[in-house]
Amino acid sequence: MSGERVLFVDHTGQIGGAELILLDVVQGRNESSAFLFEQGPLAKALSDRGLSVITSRWGIGLPRFRRDSSWLKALPLAGGLAAITAELARLARRHDVVYANSQKAFVLAAIANVVARKPLIWHLHDIISPAHFGAMQRRTQIFLANRFATKVVVPSEAAAAAFIEAGGRRSLIEVVPNGLSVEPVAVSRQELRQRLGLPQGPLVGVFSRLAQWKGQHVLVEALARLPGVHGIVVGDALFGEQDYAAQLKRQVDALGLAGRIHFLGHRGDVPLLMQAVDVMVHPSIDPEPFGRTLVEAMLAGVPVIATDAGAAPDILEHGRAGMLVPPGDARALAEALDTVLAEPAVLEPQLAYASRRARSHYSLARMLESIGLLIRNVRAGAAV
Ligand code: UDP
Repeated sequence: MSGERVLFVDHTGQIGGAELILLDVVQGRNESSAFLFEQGPLAKALSDRGLSVITSRWGIGLPRFRRDSSWLKALPLAGGLAAITAELARLARRHDVVYANSQKAFVLAAIANVVARKPLIWHLHDIISPAHFGAMQRRTQIFLANRFATKVVVPSEAAAAAFIEAGGRRSLIEVVPNGLSVEPVAVSRQELRQRLGLPQGPLVGVFSRLAQWKGQHVLVEALARLPGVHGIVVGDALFGEQDYAAQLKRQVDALGLAGRIHFLGHRGDVPLLMQAVDVMVHPSIDPEPFGRTLVEAMLAGVPVIATDAGAAPDILEHGRAGMLVPPGDARALAEALDTVLAEPAVLEPQLAYASRRARSHYSLARMLESIGLLIRNVRAGAAV
C-alpha cells in the first residue's frame, strides 16, 4: 500500500483509454481520493478500488466542451468552471499531491493550485498539436504546464516531442510508456468466435471509441474493397462523437456492407474479442500519443496493421512488430489486409517478436513502478 494522499482528478465519468490507465495507477492507494467533474461508471470503478470519490455538482456540460473549441464556448460554463476550481482547491489542500489525468482536469487543477500550492502531476494522454487542439487551448495548456506543473508524464516520445514543440519545458517531461497485463486465453480462434457469436471467415477488428480521428471510416472503406472479409467495430461514441457514429453506420449501409461490418458497441471483454480476430487494425488518421490496442493485440498474438503516425511506429518498431500504412489511405490498408489475411503463417516470427516486445517494453509492473516513484519524488520535492 502507498502512503501518499493523492488527489486524482479527471474531467469525465466515462472509461476511455486514459481512464483505464488511471484505474491501474490508483491500485493500492487507499489513502487517496478521486475528484471527477461528472457522474459515470468511472466513479464506481474508482470506488471499487478503495478510493473515496467526490463527483462535482457543477460539471454538467464540461466534458462536452471539445478539444478544438475556443475558450469563448466555455463562457456560458464560467460559473461551473469557477465552482469546480474552488472545489479542487479545497480538496487539494487535504492531499499531498494532485494528479490530473486529463487535459481539462489539468487546466482547472493548475488554476486551483494558485491557492492550493501542492505538487502537481499532469498525466498527459494527448498529443498537443493543431490536429487535436485549437490554438487557444494549446497556448493555455502550455502556459499552465510551464508555470504550475511539477512533472508532466507522457506515454511516448511522440507525445513528449509534441509537448516541447508546442513550447512546453523539456525538464518537466517524464516518459512513462503505458503498461498492460493481458494474458491470452488458451482457446482456439474458432471456439472463441463460436462463444462470442462472431463469423468464422476472414475477420478483422477495430477497438476504439468512435471518433473521426480514430479513423474507423477508413477501415470501412478498405473493407468495401475486400469482398468476403468481415469486420467488427468495437467501441462507442464516449466523448460526444454521436454524429460520427451515425455517419459511420450510414457509410456502411450506403456501401452495402451491413452484412459484413458488425457494430458491437462498447465492450468489457476486448481481450477476448481481440484474440478472436485475424487482424487488429488501428486506423487513426491523426497522430496517437500511444495506442493501448496495439499492445493488447501484440500480447494476444494477433497481427497488427496501424497507421504510420504518432507513437505507433515506435511501439511497432517501424514495422518489425506489426505493419504500418499511411494514415487515411483506404487502398493501402486494403492491400495490407489482403497480404496478412492471405498468408497468416508467414507472420508467425513477427507475432512472437511482437509478444516479447510488448512484455518487455510495456509491462504494467514497470509503468506502476515508474509512476509510484515519480509520485514519491514529487511529494518529497526531489524531482524538480
Ligand atoms: N476499449 C474497451 N472497450 C471498447 C473499446 C475499447 O475497453 O469497447 C479499450 C481498449 O481495449 C483500450 C482502450 O479502450 O484498452 C483504448 O485505448 P487507446 O489507447 O487505444 O485509445 P484512447 O481511447 O485512449 O484514445
